[in-house]
Parts: sequence; C-alpha cells; structure tokens
Amino acid sequence: MKTRSPIVSVLGHVDHGKTTLLDNIRGSTIAAKEAGGITQHIGATEIPMDVISSICGEFLERMSINEKLPGLFFIDTPGHEAFTTLRKRGGSLADLAILILDVNEGFKPQTYEALNILKSSKTPFVVAANKIDKIPGWKSVENASFTESMKQQDSDIVFKLDQKLYEIVGTLHEEGFESERFDRISNFASQITIVPISAMSGEGLTELLTMLLGLAYQYLREQLQIEENSPAEGTVLEVKEEKGLGLTIDTIIYDGLLNKDDRIMMLTKDNKVISTKIRSLLKPKPLEEIRESKTMFENTDEIVAAAGVKIVAPHVDDVVAGSPLKVANANDEKVEDELLSEVDNIRIQTNDIGIIVKADTLGSLEALVNILDQKDIPIKSAEIGDISRRDIINASIMYEEDKKYGVVVGFNVNILPSAEEELNNQEIKVFQDKVIYQLTEDYLDWVNTAKERQKEQRLASIIRPSKIRIIPKLVFRHSKPAIAGVEIMSGIIQRGVTLINEKGNVVGKVESMEDNGENLSKASRGSQVAMAISDAVFEKDFEEGDVLYVDMSERNFLAIEEEFDSKLLDDERHTMDELKEIKQQSEDPNWGVINTDWSELDTLDEDEYED
Ligand code: GDP
Repeated sequence: MKTRSPIVSVLGHVDHGKTTLLDNIRGSTIAAKEAGGITQHIGATEIPMDVISSICGEFLERMSINEKLPGLFFIDTPGHEAFTTLRKRGGSLADLAILILDVNEGFKPQTYEALNILKSSKTPFVVAANKIDKIPGWKSVENASFTESMKQQDSDIVFKLDQKLYEIVGTLHEEGFESERFDRISNFASQITIVPISAMSGEGLTELLTMLLGLAYQYLREQLQIEENSPAEGTVLEVKEEKGLGLTIDTIIYDGLLNKDDRIMMLTKDNKVISTKIRSLLKPKPLEEIRESKTMFENTDEIVAAAGVKIVAPHVDDVVAGSPLKVANANDEKVEDELLSEVDNIRIQTNDIGIIVKADTLGSLEALVNILDQKDIPIKSAEIGDISRRDIINASIMYEEDKKYGVVVGFNVNILPSAEEELNNQEIKVFQDKVIYQLTEDYLDWVNTAKERQKEQRLASIIRPSKIRIIPKLVFRHSKPAIAGVEIMSGIIQRGVTLINEKGNVVGKVESMEDNGENLSKASRGSQVAMAISDAVFEKDFEEGDVLYVDMSERNFLAIEEEFDSKLLDDERHTMDELKEIKQQSEDPNWGVINTDWSELDTLDEDEYED
C-alpha cells in the first residue's frame, strides 16, 4: 500500500481567478526552487510535500499537520466542466476542491452551480475569497501569507474585507453551509474554511495550501491508500489530436499502476466498451528540454497513481470524455461489466414524455440530469454528443404530445448541420448554454411565459358571465330582428352571443349593437345600447324590463371557475352564480359542479408556445 496525493480541483464563476490561482500555485512553487520541484503531469500539476512545507512550514506546525502525504495533485483544467467530467466510481475524481470567488463580486451563477455540484458530490472544499488586492486601499505584499499581509493593512480596510467575507458567510449559510474565516474557525469539522487570497499577488496562498492539507488529513486518510501494484484505474479527461501522434487520450490515473504493455478498456459515446492495446505512454518533458527538441512529450514505461498521462493507442476515436479507464485482464467480460456498471450509476431515469437532453461528457450529463430531476422536469432521453437530426425529430414527436416538451437542452454541445436543417422545418426550441443552472432556468422561464400567454389568450376567447336588462318603453321593433334599448348590467356582451331568460329558455342571438349611430362589436357593463336580437319576438320571447343572460357552455363555465375566477369582477361572480342556478333548474341539477374530466379542458383552446 502507498498513500497517493489528494487530487484537487478549482471551481468557480468565470473570471473569478481559477486560472490565475493555478498558475500562481505552480509559479510560486517553481520560484521556491526546492528539491524535487513540481511535477508536471498531463492535465495536472503535482506539488510535492517538501515544497509545500517550505512554503507553509510554520502554518503546518501550528495546525499540527504531520507530513505524510506525498503532495497535492492539482487538475490543470479549472471549472466545473472538468470537475464533472473527471469522475470515478461513486463520485468525483477530485478528492478536494477550491471554490474560488471574487470577494468584490460575491456569489455569481456559476458559483452557486459549483457549490451545488460540490454538495451533491460530497467533496470537501475550501472557499478562496480572491482578489483581496482589489479592495480599495489594500497594500499588496507579494507572496506574503494572509496573516503577514493583514498586519500591513489599515484597520478600515480590514473592516471592509470582513464585511465582504460576512456576505459570503451569509450566502453560504443560506445554501446550507456554516463557514468562517480560517483563523476564526472553532470547529473544522462543521465549518467551511474561507481563506482571503490574491491569486495575482500570491497573498494568502500559504494558508490556502495549509487548509487543503488540513482537509486531506481530516477526511481522506483512507481514500488515499492505494495498492501500488494493482491494475490501473483512471478517467479519460480528453480525446485529443496531437501533431505527429494522431488521436491520443489524456487520462488521470487515480489508482494502481499502468504499464506501457497493458491493454486498456474504455467506454464510447454510444455506451459500448472498447479494448485497445497501448502503443505508448507519454508524459510532458521538463520545460528546459522542450526547447531543444521537437516534441513536448517523453515516453515512460509505467506510471503510478496519482498521475496524468497521455496514452497513444488505436481505435480511440469514439472514446467519451469522462469514461472510466480500466486495465484489461484475462476476463474481459468482467472488466466490461464493471465499466458498464459505472455508467449504470448515472443511468438516467427517462420518461415516455419529456425533453431531449444532450451534454458533452458523462459527468456533465449527470450533473445536468440531476438538476433537471430536482426541478421535476421530465426527460425523454439523455445522451452524450452534439445535437443531431435525430434529436430534433425525437423532440418533434414530443412536441406533438405536449409543446412544452418539444425541446432539446444542450450543455456545451454544438448543433450539427443536418440538425440545423431539420430545425428549419420544425417548431422545436433548442436551449444551449455552458452553465447548467442557466439552462434549466431558461427552459422554465420559457415554459412559464408560454403558459401565461396561453392563459391570456384563453381568457380573451372565453365568454364572460354577462347579463342585460331590457329598458322599458324602448322596444323599437318587435321582431326580425327585435330591436330594444338595453343596459349591460354585468360583464361584456360580444356580438354573436346567445341570450337566455331567467328560466333558461333561449331568447335569441345578439345580431348587432349600436350606440349613437355607431356600430359596436362589444359593449361592457354600465353602457346602454340599441340591440338587435335575431329570432326573438317581443312579448313572446321577452318583455320590457326582462333580465337576460349570455348563454355559455358548461365547459366554458368550468374553465372560468378553474382558471380565471381571480380575474372576475364582483358583479361577474354574482352573475356566474345566477347562471349556474338557472342552468341547474332548467338543464341538469349537477350543471357546473366540478367533477368533470379535466383533461377535456385542455382541448378548449390550442396551446401556444413560441420563440
Ligand atoms: P477564470 O476565468 O476563473 O480562470 O479567471 P482568470 O484566472 O482568467 O482571471 C480573470 C481575470 O481576473 C484576469 O484578468 C486575471 O488577471 C484577474 N485576476 C485573477 N485573480 C486576481 C487577483 O487576485 N487580483 C486581481 N487584481 N486580478 C485578478
């Protein structure tokens, strides 16, 4: 058994300093020029313990961290795309994370998203409150520890920093985490550590590295024990064309040993297992040698975890980023099952009706599906890869079922040309983003807007509860059509509606309305108009002073009760009740009682979803 270095990822919102932090960690450790120096891996950088202790010595002692770890292994690709891609059985490949944020800006969408991902992967993390040097009045002390740098600052600046830190503490609290500045923490097991840093000037990096080691000692002792001679296990970071080498795969090996003669097995985009024989194992050449030679890599015979290595091997075209990698043995089937079962862990619960989901890697697909699940958005299918013509066609089948599911949601993927073409023929909506959380928000916003619009359209097309009174001594014509002066007592009368009397008998249709010689298509409460009622005969169908109601179907009535009750005026509400009573007495004692099959209501009007 040996102890490997903990694997560390840096996550955070764009421009908050992930890359600068990684560069500075490498830079300042190179500058330290200690024995051993740093080890450059493919896709990762390892800082050995002696380098760390030469930088952090005093702090390590104070935290009583005894040096048993070989070092810290930083994944070079920052951001949560890399974090989610790099997974291993049962969780994230990263053992630890730094959640970085700009102390002046606080939490941003990707900060929340990163926090959610850390939460669901249960990865221990430290918060780096970056860019303290940008606080107005801050006096930067290059590469000083935060503790030393603090001594140089005026008290009002320290106060300002604390204010900003407490905002972060507050937000973390809302998100379910207790946290504190690292030097005020009372309980490392229950509180998240916040370290104020400047990735630019290097201030605070000492404490940041110390706190990471502290986390490793606290949480990872067992996890970091590996069997030195067992077959390697790893994760594919990227499939990459390399000049003179063809397609290569960059992998992070987190357990065991990989030999240049090994045969390895991995997953393809369509969930198949491929087996391929390694041609060569490559690691980066030391910087000074690259200058003299053409190639950036050098061959190695074997590597031991944790390590980042470039593998040259045939048939890797379809290998998917995020795939697990295993060494084949005498029993290929067993290894194959193991590989497939790793994907089974994230096998997605799909529904008969739902949206189409695409993402670039296994890990990002998993993260996206998790968030969609949390929001109860049903998924028809979820796959890795660019948006294809087939996806659009599948979405259009969903569109037929329910327009809100005629949707493709793509994370970090492109739309293939054939799919673009198909999109022109279909009313399918495609959502694309590089922020998972943004994708789900955008989709839900769109659904809600469409629902609101649909509701408004339905309201416009619905007959509102209305009644009129025939004004005495103002009947101008007795029949064909009957014409009388009427007062609108409630609601809005539209031309064409049918009028009934208080017994529920049909009186006639509103053929036209006039006010002061002007023709009206509708008239609302309070107005008096001359109304022509076709098929009605005065003194047979109606009398002076009669109150008449606008007839409506039971379905119309129930739609109002169910959806628009809140939009009715008091007088309309009252008219509804009167109408219900008339209908119950004249037609059916259960008329307008809510026990109808609601699905019928959906067909009342066409749904409307637009761009
Ligand atoms: P990323 O998108 O998270 O990788 O962010 P970068 O590392 O690329 O940083 C974004 C910008 O912020 C760059 O212009 C950096 O120079 C700047 N930056 C990063 N860290 C600091 C810092 O500590 N102080 C200051 N003043 N600028 C910083």
